[in-house]
Amino acid sequence: MTRSRAAVFLDRDGVLVRDHGPLVRLQDAEIPDDVPVALARLRRAGYVLVGVSNQTVVARGLLTEDEARALQDRIDDTIVLRGGVPLDAFYLCPHHPEADVAAYRGACDCRKPAPGMLLRATAELSLDLRRSIMIGDRPSDVAAGRAAGCRTVWLHSGRHDDPPIRSATPIPQARPDHVCTTLTEVAQWLGA
Ligand SMILES: [Mg+2]
Ligand SMILES: [Zn+2]
Repeated sequence: MTRSRAAVFLDRDGVLVRDHGPLVRLQDAEIPDDVPVALARLRRAGYVLVGVSNQTVVARGLLTEDEARALQDRIDDTIVLRGGVPLDAFYLCPHHPEADVAAYRGACDCRKPAPGMLLRATAELSLDLRRSIMIGDRPSDVAAGRAAGCRTVWLHSGRHDDPPIRSATPIPQARPDHVCTTLTEVAQWLGA
């Protein structure tokens, strides 16, 4: 019997790259200096690294889904060049309640605060949610992690006080298990 593995679910914008608004080009991806090594530490501690990102840029027609995935691959490449490790998987929600692209307009079960991306990853990668951690910079990330049944970290990385994202449903108030400002501090908190 294989033991299911614990994951670290990582929001992308505001965690792996600084959130300066919609990200469509690699040259605008500012990766905090500590992120590559922090990811390597988490991987070494046995965590599966899973990106879970609301990609409103797809709903807005600024990137196709394939282009958004290709951009993430290049961000991963950059993280590796700086001594880190790539994500094991990357899930994105292309939907938005008011998407410009009709195919992506409306409610879905994957846009955070919904837990759909985490639940899909859990099924596809045989993860143990109870031992997993969701890390994000917005209350919607904390709510998604809580709804999925994992521990949560609210990263106060700069945009955490912004107005809430547009959500089809009200964002539940969920108290994070831990609050800090960098991914390195999360790795320390986890003993990684
Ligand atoms: Mg974010
Ligand atoms: Zn979605």
